[in-house]
Amino acid sequence: MRTPFVGGNWKMNTDRASGVALARAVAEAAAACTGVEVAVFPPFPYLGAIADALHGSRITLGAQDLYYETSGAFTGEVSAAMLLDCGASAVLTGHSERRHVIGESDDLVNRKTRAALDADLTCVLCIGETLDQRERGETHAVNERQLRAALAGVRPERTQRLVIAYEPVWAIGTGRNATPADAQDAHARVRAVLASIFSSDVAASVRIIYGGSLKPDNAEALLARPDVDGGLVGGASLSATDFCTIVRAAEARVARPIA
Ligand code: PEP
Repeated sequence: MRTPFVGGNWKMNTDRASGVALARAVAEAAAACTGVEVAVFPPFPYLGAIADALHGSRITLGAQDLYYETSGAFTGEVSAAMLLDCGASAVLTGHSERRHVIGESDDLVNRKTRAALDADLTCVLCIGETLDQRERGETHAVNERQLRAALAGVRPERTQRLVIAYEPVWAIGTGRNATPADAQDAHARVRAVLASIFSSDVAASVRIIYGGSLKPDNAEALLARPDVDGGLVGGASLSATDFCTIVRAAEARVARPIA
């Protein structure tokens, strides 16, 4: 049985006061959802304040990025150890905005993913195709290429803290979401690739979550699919009410058997 994972990616939003208030509201609203791992990913400067706000709650604190080196002359970068020191225990890698806006390569995503897992951070590795790639029928090939590249050199025992987020780029922040059937198809194929890279046991245990305009009104249908183990939420995570409605939709799947 895979515990559903729902993460809120706040991106470059909130200030210190509104971030702390949002974290407190999420902690309160999600307190009863014990069947779901709930995480928030605030901007770097507010990690310490939000760690304090979440103290004693069951919410996982995550960061939106890290650098793969441990220390040294890397101006502006943040190491895995620094994240842990600030109270974070999770991190995103490969988010489409970092791949397509900032220009991160598959190789850089691989180094960051390995650094995160080696440091025992929960690593939410994001993959997904652009609209052009989707229209050319390349969705599964792109997902497989990104997965194999990002996971090169990752030892099977390190996958215990690995979460894969399938996030079609054309669905992120656009109000367009994948259909539940499309998401299930993509997730099942991602699981098959994980089986081929690692083993069927690893594939069965890794959580594969969906991201891309996940909202209170589409969460139930998407999160009901057998290989959709939760969600990565951008826009809707800035409202504690909307975010926690999605958390409850993830919890509802706990009652159902997972294929
Ligand atoms: C995201 O940032 O990972 C995301 C899925 O954003 P949104 O929910 O706004 O599409």
